[in-house]
Amino acid sequence: MPRKKKGEEQEEKDTNSQPKSKKKKSSSVKYVDPNELLDEYLEEVINALGLAYLNLSREEYKELIKEPFAGAVGEVKTKPKSKTIINRLSANRDSLMEFLAMKLVRIKDLEKMTEEQLEFVVYNTKNAIKDLGPRLYEICIKKGRSDLIDVLRANWTIYGINSPVKCPKCMFNAIMPDLSCYICKYTITMKQLKEQLNVLQILFDYFKVDPQGYKEIMMAGYFYYSWDGVLPPSKQPKDLLRFEIVLNKEEKEKLKSFYIEHSTPQTQ
Ligand SMILES: [Zn+2]
Repeated sequence: MPRKKKGEEQEEKDTNSQPKSKKKKSSSVKYVDPNELLDEYLEEVINALGLAYLNLSREEYKELIKEPFAGAVGEVKTKPKSKTIINRLSANRDSLMEFLAMKLVRIKDLEKMTEEQLEFVVYNTKNAIKDLGPRLYEICIKKGRSDLIDVLRANWTIYGINSPVKCPKCMFNAIMPDLSCYICKYTITMKQLKEQLNVLQILFDYFKVDPQGYKEIMMAGYFYYSWDGVLPPSKQPKDLLRFEIVLNKEEKEKLKSFYIEHSTPQTQ
């Protein structure tokens, strides 16, 4: 804790400036050992944080919480009250839970987790969803927990690699530019992608905002698609989640007839 560190520095400075005999005396005062304190406060802390339902063994609980607990104790010479530590731990509850969920994944094999432990991990997996998402999805499928998959899907949209293309199998926005799904590994075909985007319609709509770009796409036979929508080859989107969509002969012909139909004579 920054506040305490400052105090400590001050203390050190003070001792340095004092006569040798006093320095010796102060260095003999022991710091509180957070691990010993954890032994004493463990149950109280676990209950106060609402983690008792995880049903871990005493050793597992200690392992789970030891780092944040030590952080909340800080380097002190007088024993803090359990309430003080609990308040400090609760001050940043969301990030604490996120940390504990990731720690739990390291302590316990995901496959061997109880329903409650798995729920805890799913609900609190935020930024780590890029790493854990595929495995958590797989396990939730195995256990038939579609309710947890909904939670994962929502967290993916916020913390994952949110793609403008949805996977038709797992329904996550997780189709990558190589057309494979990051979450369930399903690969969509170019045909499926075009169907999902309604490719001719989005290009006809694009004509209204950028007829020159439309012409470019028509001539080149391909375009980019990203969260920015349709872009012609000369305006490659900066977004890495961009899809290069190659048009087939039939689509190109349809674009041409639309172009001829909608262009005024002077633009041709
Ligand atoms: Zn998928």
